[in-house]
Amino acid sequence: MTSKITAPRGTRDLLPEDAPAWELAEAVARDLSRRYAFERIEIPLFERVELFARGLGESSDAVEKEMFRVSGAAGSEEERAEWALRPEPTAGIVRAFIEHGMHVRPGPLRVTMIGPMFRYDRPQAGRYRQFSQWDVEVIGDPGPAVDAELIELAHRFYATVGLTDAVAHVNSIGDAKCRPGYRQALIDYFGQHLDRLTEDSRRRLEVNPLRVLDDKQLVPELADGAPKSADHLCDECRAHFRAVLDILDALKVRYVVDHRLVRGLDYYTRTTFEFVIAGREGQQQALGGGGRYDGLAELLGGRPTPGIGFGIGLDRTVLAMEEQDVTLPPGAPLVAVVGTGDDQPDRLAVAGRLREAGLRVRPDGSGRKLGKQLEAAAKAGAGWAVIVGDELGDGMVGLKDLATGEQETVALDEVPPRISG
Ligand code: AMP
Repeated sequence: MTSKITAPRGTRDLLPEDAPAWELAEAVARDLSRRYAFERIEIPLFERVELFARGLGESSDAVEKEMFRVSGAAGSEEERAEWALRPEPTAGIVRAFIEHGMHVRPGPLRVTMIGPMFRYDRPQAGRYRQFSQWDVEVIGDPGPAVDAELIELAHRFYATVGLTDAVAHVNSIGDAKCRPGYRQALIDYFGQHLDRLTEDSRRRLEVNPLRVLDDKQLVPELADGAPKSADHLCDECRAHFRAVLDILDALKVRYVVDHRLVRGLDYYTRTTFEFVIAGREGQQQALGGGGRYDGLAELLGGRPTPGIGFGIGLDRTVLAMEEQDVTLPPGAPLVAVVGTGDDQPDRLAVAGRLREAGLRVRPDGSGRKLGKQLEAAAKAGAGWAVIVGDELGDGMVGLKDLATGEQETVALDEVPPRISG
């Protein structure tokens, strides 16, 4: 026997049984995007490696360790891997903003997308090489109101999909003015405790000391005693952070200030946030996160433009919905169309009429006995069977309630109101 081909490591197939939770999460994301006045944007799945190296920072995990590189066809100019599958969408969206001269539009630009991201990470539960994100970005708004608006939006998303205990962790990591002082404070502090840092952290301390706080294996006492970015903010950044928190209070959004929340990507400035399930901090990876990136457009060759956005991990959201047994809205009733003998054309014609009326219809195309067809319909989850027979000539069909077994003869036109009503 030839060997079986399996899915690549770290990828998942979305199977029909998982679809309702995904569909709910995506529908809520789309509906909220519309109600919060975000417009759709799409960018390529792959971009130049350099975009991510510049945008996310050479020292970020996403660039340093997790870049999923792609190359062109053998013999082509791009045979060497010059592109990478996008690890996140912000760099690509800001690239598009600059490339299309979108700064001349009446701003701020509010855009959204849902799609797959790729990180060549070690796969584990909740961590995949291909995963899906709902992303929103606001480009051209310095905040602070929009910072709170996005945190409130993410919060509303989780509550609407049934994750009422998702809580926002927020922090401010300052800007180009005050971050250098904070970096130095971290270097001084962790420099005295080098022997208690992991090798990874010792390296991070040299290239990007904020990221030491990101190290999941950081000794808790060491983390607790570390300098807090909120204590090192310049006046402008402190006022900005205070304003964000005040608005969140006014909007009654549940949040905690988390001094360790520095986020993995270099481009963040000021506000950073992540969502986790309350009481499961530390054990569980974040459900989503985001932050402000006021320096990114300039880094990518555009004019200085403030920006802020978030990416919500849909895989982890759906996993959490399943773990918490979130009740999903019932699907539309399923109707089977069955018949006797060689009446498949009639069955398909009847199915067509019912579909025109908006019903969800699954015709049985087999020549099996009627009893077998009804059995199969019930197994497939149909609540109703429409039975096509000789009376179709008079516009009549059999309508069987598969739950009770009751059956009657009704006009075909009567079926949709009977089932939907
Ligand atoms: P990040 O930009 O790393 O903060 O990612 C934003 C969100 O995407 C995270 O909070 C996760 O929910 C999700 N995410 C990030 N990486 C992965 C991954 N490897 N597998 C599944 N979800 C992920």
